[in-house]
Amino acid sequence: MAAAIGIKGHCAQCDMTFELKPWQLNAIAIEVPFDCAYCHSGLKLCCHKQLRQFRALDQWALVRPSMIMLTCATLLMALFAEWLGLLSVSGQFYISLVTVSIHFLVVRYARYRQRMTLNLQVVSPLPVEQLARIACARLTQQ
Ligand SMILES: [Zn+2]
Repeated sequence: MAAAIGIKGHCAQCDMTFELKPWQLNAIAIEVPFDCAYCHSGLKLCCHKQLRQFRALDQWALVRPSMIMLTCATLLMALFAEWLGLLSVSGQFYISLVTVSIHFLVVRYARYRQRMTLNLQVVSPLPVEQLARIACARLTQQ
């Protein structure tokens, strides 16, 4: 998941907030518990509202590339319109300025929406096969 930057998790057991690693985000996405880096209790995202927000992150990740395309297209169209004489130089400048401003506002908002802290709940002790899977996931990440 490319969008997963700046997402933090809060452990309900030890009250620590930490940056979630890609394998932990994958675990949350497939609703599999993983262990806390500090107190090693099994953690899971139980809040449905946060889970929905978390799933929406993929859509927010698409905002930036589509905004770049949209902005470039608008700037080129404004240049072309000026070249054809449909727009004055100041009109073209004004449209470009507004387009670039909107671009940065939207990208900033998308980034703001992607930054979140997930409240992770403690689940009952992890079964042995779960611990083995966590170990495997960590090894493959290193
Ligand atoms: Zn913890």
